[in-house]
Amino acid sequence: MEELEIDGLVVRETATGEADKLITLLTAERGRITVSGKGVSSMRSKYAASAQMFAYSTFLLRRRTKYWYIADAFFIDNFMELRYDVERLALANYLCDAACEFAQEEIENEPLMRLTLNALWAAANKKEIPLERIRAAFEFRLAVQEGFMPDLSGCGICGRDVSGEDSTLDVMNGRLLCKKCRTLLENDPEYLADETAKILIRVSPPVLAALRFIEEAPQKKFLSFALERPEQSLLNVVCERYLLNHIEHGFSSLEYYKKVRT
Ligand SMILES: [Zn+2]
Repeated sequence: MEELEIDGLVVRETATGEADKLITLLTAERGRITVSGKGVSSMRSKYAASAQMFAYSTFLLRRRTKYWYIADAFFIDNFMELRYDVERLALANYLCDAACEFAQEEIENEPLMRLTLNALWAAANKKEIPLERIRAAFEFRLAVQEGFMPDLSGCGICGRDVSGEDSTLDVMNGRLLCKKCRTLLENDPEYLADETAKILIRVSPPVLAALRFIEEAPQKKFLSFALERPEQSLLNVVCERYLLNHIEHGFSSLEYYKKVRT
């Protein structure tokens, strides 16, 4: 029998019986782990707290056949504040869904674990940070960490510094375009024939500065920036489209989050 002691965050739960559920743990050392939680939905289960959504615990897991099961659990945190606010809860569900998208079984991914924990912690406890800033920064940082890092150093074609002017993010090519190069591209029939290449979003200087910050900031500081409202709205559009176009699908949890915000 295989045994494993590991810190894990519950990022998904599926009821499989009256008191049973399958839970998905996000871990730094082994990516995503699916755990069979027999009886854990029962109030009497001593693992009930550790097996609920957003719970972060040290688990002792054992595996006989396909699934791991909980042999012991030491509860650490469950980001309780998320449960008192429908918007925060909806955002947290989306963050976990998006993290799950990249977590692979048995593959170490410490940056993903740290990003998810930091974002959840901010959503639960940092009331002074607007939720939209958490969402946008998480989306962009997630894309960057998971292999879709754009080159934000200057125009991706002519090399011009675009820090002080409106530019364009060429999403699928992961590069910036200055005004001149964008116009040239838009008159190039070969470029226009490629549907995926045409996802172009305007980026203002403050938004570009925020994107660079999110890309380069130390993990714990990635939310330490501020934008005026119209700029934040533009950043939201840029980050969402950047992530979703690279993943190539949306999330029902994101649609739900947007619905409860309005
Ligand atoms: Zn250019």
